[in-house]
Formats: sequence, C-alpha cells, structure tokens
Amino acid sequence: MRDPEITRLSYDVVVVGAGGAGLRAAIEAAAQGARVALVCKSLLGKAQTVMAESGIAAALGTVHAGDTWQAHFRDTLKSGEAQGNWRMARLLAEEAAERVLELETWGAAFDRTDAGLIQQRDAGGHRYARLAQVGDRTGLEMIRTLQMRAVQLGVDVHMECGIHRLLTNHGAVCGALGVRQGTGEFLVFRCGSLVLATGGGGRAWKVSSNAQDHTGDGMALALEAGAVAADLEFVQFHPTCMVHPPNLRGTMVTEAVRSAGGVLRNALGRRFLFDYIPARLRAETASTEDEADAWYDERRNRRRPPELMPADVVSRAIEAEVKAGRGTAYGGVLLDIASRRSAADIRRLLPSTCRRFEQLSGIDITRDAIEVAPACHYSMGGVQVDPQTGATAVEGLYAAGEVAAGPHGASRLGGNALAELLVFGRRAGLHAAAHSSKRALPEDADVSGSLKVLLQPFNRADGESPYALLAELQACMHDGVGLVRTREGLEAAIEKLNCLEMRVSNVAVPGARVFNPGWQLALELRAMVVYAKATALCALEREETRGAHARADFPGTDAAWEGTRIVVRKTAEGLRTSRERLPAMPDELRKLTVPDELKALYEEHYTWLQRTSSSGSGAATPAAEPSRTTG
Ligand SMILES: Cc1cc2nc3c(=O)[nH]c(=O)nc-3n(C[C@H](O)[C@H](O)[C@H](O)COP(=O)(O)OP(=O)(O)OC[C@H]3O[C@@H](n4cnc5c(N)ncnc54)[C@H](O)[C@@H]3O)c2cc1C
Repeated sequence: MRDPEITRLSYDVVVVGAGGAGLRAAIEAAAQGARVALVCKSLLGKAQTVMAESGIAAALGTVHAGDTWQAHFRDTLKSGEAQGNWRMARLLAEEAAERVLELETWGAAFDRTDAGLIQQRDAGGHRYARLAQVGDRTGLEMIRTLQMRAVQLGVDVHMECGIHRLLTNHGAVCGALGVRQGTGEFLVFRCGSLVLATGGGGRAWKVSSNAQDHTGDGMALALEAGAVAADLEFVQFHPTCMVHPPNLRGTMVTEAVRSAGGVLRNALGRRFLFDYIPARLRAETASTEDEADAWYDERRNRRRPPELMPADVVSRAIEAEVKAGRGTAYGGVLLDIASRRSAADIRRLLPSTCRRFEQLSGIDITRDAIEVAPACHYSMGGVQVDPQTGATAVEGLYAAGEVAAGPHGASRLGGNALAELLVFGRRAGLHAAAHSSKRALPEDADVSGSLKVLLQPFNRADGESPYALLAELQACMHDGVGLVRTREGLEAAIEKLNCLEMRVSNVAVPGARVFNPGWQLALELRAMVVYAKATALCALEREETRGAHARADFPGTDAAWEGTRIVVRKTAEGLRTSRERLPAMPDELRKLTVPDELKALYEEHYTWLQRTSSSGSGAATPAAEPSRTTG
C-alpha cells in the first residue's frame, strides 16, 4: 500500500456528527462567529435523528394550558428513577419550549391545533400531551430545518468521513484524525475545540432499532482521550420493534401507534399488560380494558392504558410473555391498531409508518396486527459533561446528544431525546466557540503512529474477518448484557469481550482504502468493543434493578443505590469503574418532584421541617419527601 495522502484542515470548532445535536451545536458555534467544520460518517441528512417519529417533548402548553417546565422536570426525573442529572433535567425542561419555537422560526412546519397553535401529542410518562410533532416524521423535519440553517450560516460539511482518533496536546484536544470513505484519504482537522455528537452505540446488540453508524465511536474516542463516561448500564430497549419479516427485524414501531389506540396482545389474543402493572404505577394506570379505552376516547380520565407505561416495564412484560410460551411463532407479541381505529384515521395519524410497512414488506397496518418484541434502542449513559456547557473532563472537548450522559437517568421519556439534542447541542456549540476564541490554534500534530494503527488491517495476510467478529460481539451483548442481566451472564460477557478486544486488533481486510466497508467496520469495531465492555462493567457493578437496568439476581430497586452513579474511565490497566454521588437537589427543585395530589401533604411536612430546623431542634434540611412513588 502506498504512503497515505493526508489533507490538513484548520477550524475554530470541529463538530463530529451531523444528527440533531451536531447540527444544533454547529449552528450555535457559527452564529458566534467561529469557523466550523461538521464531520459525519454517513451522508448529511442520514443521521439517526431523521428516524425519530414520535416528536419533541416541550412544555409549550398548547394543548393543556396547565403544562409547565416544572411539570416536565418532574416527569423527567420520575421516569429516570432519581438517577437523572437534575441540573440537566431542569435545563432541558426550562429550555425545550424555546428551542422548539426557534425551530419553527427557522421553517419547521409543526402540526397545528384547531386554534392554529403547535399540536402536541401524548406519550408514556408525560403527564400532559407534550410532544410537538410533524406527523410521524418529526426527525426528518428537524434535520431538514437544522441543515438549512447550518448551510445558511456557512458551516463546512465533510460527509462520509469517519473520525477515528482525537488528537491531544498537553491534555487538551487539538484536533481529530479521520478517513474520507470515498477516496480513502486521511484528514487531519486542527481545531481549538471539538464537539462530539456521534449518537449512541446500539449497533453493539444483535437486535437494534438504531442506525448503522451507532457504533459507540464517540464514547470510545472520549474515553481514549481521558474523559469519563457515566450511567452506561442504563440501555433502553424499545418494546415494539419488528421481529418479522427478516428485512424489518429491529425496525421500530413508534409509540405513536400505541398512543393513537394500538394495543398489545399475546398469541392467545389477551391484552396481557394489565397483569404487569408495577405497584409504583398503579395509581396512574388503568386496570381494566374499559377504563383504558375510556382514556383513548376522552383522554380526560387520568389513568392511562398500560400500553403507555414506561418502555422498560412494557419491554420486560413482553419478554416475560414470550418466555412463558404465549408469544408468536417468531418470538414476539401482536401490536394491533387495525381493529381499533378506522383505516382513514390510521393513515392520517401515521402516514410514514403505513407507507414504510407497505413498501418494505407489503404489511398493511390498517388491516393486520404487527409482530413486535423489544430491541436495543437508546443509551441513557454516555460521556459525562458539565450540565451548563457540555464540557467533558478533557480541555477543549465537548459532547452533546445521545453520546453524552444526561438528564434521563435510569430511563428516558419519549420525546426527551430530541429535546436534549436542541437544548444541549446549542449549549455545547456556544461554549466550544467561546473556548476556541480564547485559544491559539494548536500546532500541526504528528499522526504517523496513528496512521500505522489504522492501516494495520491491510497488512495482515491471515487476520480475522471483521464481519465475523461483529456477529460475535452482537451475540455476546444480546445474551449477556440484554434486557435482563445476571452476574453470571455479565461476567461471561466481559470475559468474551476481553477476548474480542484482542481479536479485533488482529482483523484483516482485503482490497484498497477507497470505499472499503470492511475497513470501515474494522475501525468501528475498535470503538464498539470499548463501548460494549464499558457498558458490561457498569452493569455488573450496579447490583439492583432500576429503570432500564434489570438484574434477575437483584430484582428489587435498592434505596442505597439512589443517587449513586457508576462512572468509567480508561486507566493504564484498562477500563475501571468507580462510584460517584449525584449532588443533592436544592429544596425548591425537590418540591417540584412531588405529585400534585401530594403537594398539600408535602407543604405541611416541609413547613414543619423548616420550623423545627429554624427553632434549632430538628433536621437542618428536609429528609425524604413524604412519598415520591406515584403521580
Ligand atoms: C427509530 C427511532 C425513533 C426515535 N424516535 C424518537 C422520537 O420520536 N423522539 C425522541 O425524542 N427520540 C427518538 N429517538 C431517539 C433519538 O432519535 C436519538 O437519540 C437522537 O436522534 C440521537 O441524535 P444525535 O444527534 O445524538 O445522534 P445521531 O442523530 O445518531 O447522529 C450521529 C451522527 O454522528 C455521526 N458519526 C458517528 N460516529 C462518527 C464518527 N466516528 N465520525 C464521524 N461521524 C460520526 C453519524 O454519521 C451521524 O451523523 C428515536 C430513535 C430511533 C432509533
């Protein structure tokens, strides 16, 4: 192989990833006057954000005037089972509405209410109808709008270019090394600040709703550079992904189908979710079919259908039904909207979903039930960042979007990911630009050592196939680090991942550098195995069940773990986990987490505590709330 060509480019800010978070970061940095490069592995417009269907969560109050950022904050923390970073949850709830309105001024055509306001739909775990939507193509409209804006502001786009190394100098990020797929040429970006917005790592599991490029690159790059990751054990499995036909395996069926009236039945035709309502959700979940159907008809009834319980509860219920032998032939259950809504209604509410199924496999969801089961969907954990700025532990390195750990804690509410991209993408871009303006552009880095490593797969005659290793890694994560975990399974997975890590550094790739998907996969595998191992280590450490992290050997939620985060970093001995406490929430925010029904009780208790503390005879701060279990 010839000596590689290197193209060197300089920018104030480099943003890696062109989904919602990356685009929003690039827009903000450019708006501050920074020279910005937006680098993405796929084509512009093909990031996973484009697949988002349900909507963007924001307390606009257009459908329920009673909705406020405080209510959104409470729902977010509750869904995260007290594990969410409350500072980020607050910023998300406070700023999401402004970000949605801003998108509208940039040209996003949201659905409207009869009064001409932005329409908002219901979603599981949100007390009010809160998801701003564009039919079932919200992500597409969001990406289209943000791209137009970024192009208007003069952001330079480098498509089909994977970043495989971050360059550092005296502990600060000074650039990145990438490969342009179409030519095989190497690109060295020199910059004052770099924003990681590379999305999650869901492709590490065998059945996944994620885009092909969700291979955990950003988390691995950040760990390699010295940043810290947190909450990785919390991986959300979307309850309703296709299990059949094979070409649609893993394809997500949006929650909008359930919120529009779709119900889940086992192979015997029974609406089984009523059997799986956990105690903490009983007060707000309908317990009979009649009661659930009344909500669909009127939505005035506060007790929601069990189909709208949090994703982890519904996912585990489906898995339990299938394991009990009441699943379909392909190992799923049936999602049925056809028998509950007219064909015209279904086509009006879910146009893309109808069209996609018809075109890809001839399934008509206005007529037939769909076979679904849980698939890996979203990573709540990621790179640990400063809530206000998105800064990581490495100087000059920022992160936003799914690649970052954030407000979601143990489980994410539908619509909160898109809100997060806008809120924290903007913040990361703003602060990355400010940082780069205070820093002289670093010297050109010597990348010869890194190039050798990236080119090694071409220099082996008898290495392993990257495709075979990918299949082994995905099977390992599916079996050992899936929906329900055990110590035994996790230890076996870690052992296997240790072995895969060594084998990944021995892959061989035939052919040349130009458009070589095998080489790209070989480079992605290096990141995927780091992300997978970090996730398995965190899952082993957390000996309880909370939100999306379920341990069959520790089936209960343990109060002793509340507020404890597991963080992981790379040391000379490899990946190491440790525990950190989330900072205590101030009283004025803690009060917001109390359900409306219990507010009077809480006020009484709180006033009593204040009185006893000021008279010097009791606790200085309120201890636990009277109850935060239901609402
Ligand atoms: C089917 C589906 C439906 C969803 N629906 C909703 C919804 O309705 N509401 C909601 O809130 N959330 C939804 N989500 C979740 C949400 O879409 C994602 O969490 C979010 O879009 C992630 O955005 P992001 O900007 O962080 O990353 P992405 O949109 O995934 O973009 C990542 C970018 O990084 C690039 N990249 C990755 N690695 C590299 C590298 N090494 N070098 C260069 N570039 C790289 C990719 O090419 C891409 O451009 C859904 C998820 C799925 C899978």
